[in-house]
Amino acid sequence: MFIIEKIEAAAAEAKGRPAVISGEKKLSYGELWERSDALSVYLEEVLGDNRMPLVVYGHKDPMMLICFLACVKSGRAYCPVDVSMPPERVCDIAETVGNGLILAVEEPEAVPDGMGILRKGDMDKAINARLGERFPRTKWVKPEDTFYIIFTSGSTGKPKGVQISAQALTRFTDWSKTLGGEPEEKKGAVFLNQAPLSFDLSVMDVYTSLTSGGTLYCVEKEVQRDMGKLMEALGGGKINYWISTPSFADMCLSDKTFNEGLISDLKAFLFCGEKLTKTTAARLMERFPKARIVNTYGPTESTVAVTGTEITEEMLEAEGELPIGYAKEGTEIEIDGETGEIIIVGDTVSKGYYRDSAKTVKAFGRKADGRLFYRTGDQGFMKDGMLYYHGRLDLQVKLHGYRIELGDIECNIRDIAGISAAAVVPKYQDGKVKHLTGFVVRDYREEFKDDTGERLAAVREIKGKLKESLPEYMVPKRIVFMESLPMTQNGKTDRKKLEALV
Ligand code: AMP
Repeated sequence: MFIIEKIEAAAAEAKGRPAVISGEKKLSYGELWERSDALSVYLEEVLGDNRMPLVVYGHKDPMMLICFLACVKSGRAYCPVDVSMPPERVCDIAETVGNGLILAVEEPEAVPDGMGILRKGDMDKAINARLGERFPRTKWVKPEDTFYIIFTSGSTGKPKGVQISAQALTRFTDWSKTLGGEPEEKKGAVFLNQAPLSFDLSVMDVYTSLTSGGTLYCVEKEVQRDMGKLMEALGGGKINYWISTPSFADMCLSDKTFNEGLISDLKAFLFCGEKLTKTTAARLMERFPKARIVNTYGPTESTVAVTGTEITEEMLEAEGELPIGYAKEGTEIEIDGETGEIIIVGDTVSKGYYRDSAKTVKAFGRKADGRLFYRTGDQGFMKDGMLYYHGRLDLQVKLHGYRIELGDIECNIRDIAGISAAAVVPKYQDGKVKHLTGFVVRDYREEFKDDTGERLAAVREIKGKLKESLPEYMVPKRIVFMESLPMTQNGKTDRKKLEALV
């Protein structure tokens, strides 16, 4: 069955069950299905034949899911943008996506000139006036059509939009339902949503839940920032399946009450997005002896994840890092003989970056038998069908689970007036990035006379400027001024030397 039909079937079976709980807000399956139909009727009235994708801006309001479904039911892909994106990026993305309208569940600080905004209040009014109207299913996105576009950091300072088709998403959920237990056990279960809806990790919880008739239990960013509130929310959620980055679990582990007593119905932790360390896995096993721990791996470009394995005690005791899993059905992993690069071949690979053929041809291709492949930039190796991760071939890093191209930050620092060169370098601990340092060369200037005041003011100015163009997690924690950046023999920035300084 196709993804929207699966949600339809779940909605028909579980009409009164909450599809989403976010703070005080709840939305039942019946409401989700009916309200998204009504909104798609309205979108059709407003947009007519304009089937361009639509940006959906907001955070974790249940209305976000109504918008997502309304878009795809009306034959349009959606592009989720979280409120953590600064206005400049929101405008960039909205311009690239190219529809003259954005759906705004929260109020954006800025939108491109001339762009229309459909606000939550107006959507609610439009929906209420059309409740009960059915939208023709012949207009739904087709399996090969793009279902969503998720933007990720791009090395040239502009984010790139990964297009995922409805059939890729269908195949992904067919597999994700088998993770950490049988698909049957997931029926009506509660799934934790930690990641913002604009990150592809959230696709794992949103669509595994919606196709299982489950309840998506969202933890909003304000709650995530306050450990007391966070533990209270986690404790009150009756969560069965935990989907997050390992970093988020690490943060929770710093609270002593985070254990089986707090989340007694927990069946499994499903991790993705960054390295799962043995330390994290071991601590979770100790605190949640009944829950399974599953490590999955994959980039946004191949629909969330393509390999996965349950972590066992034997794996913890074995030499080396934890494995990242076996390939799912429909996916084949190849390792480039020369570079060790992981190449993903299979049925959930994206058709490429939206309106960016140059970047698409660099990373994507088609095998002779027609299957799509994606060059991940990750290094790895296989042992008895099991994949192991071995770092990156380029300057992409993961910081607290966020995917960041160091080049993206560097371009944005260089764009600040008075700066001539910049290099951003990660500080590693236990194989994971702890924080970033920006090494910055200013145009010819007097050296700082007093070491504190002026320097601090300059740091503050750079960070302030960066926050206008980058999400907060991309702004380097430390800024260090240099007269010039160290160079290698062949004239490139000597990153090794800089790494030794952080
Ligand atoms: P994203 O597109 O944000 O999901 O990021 C994808 C990248 O995250 C991959 O290319 C890897 O570099 C990294 N990654 C994802 N899952 C894992 C994992 N289980 N272990 C190590 N790195 C991972």
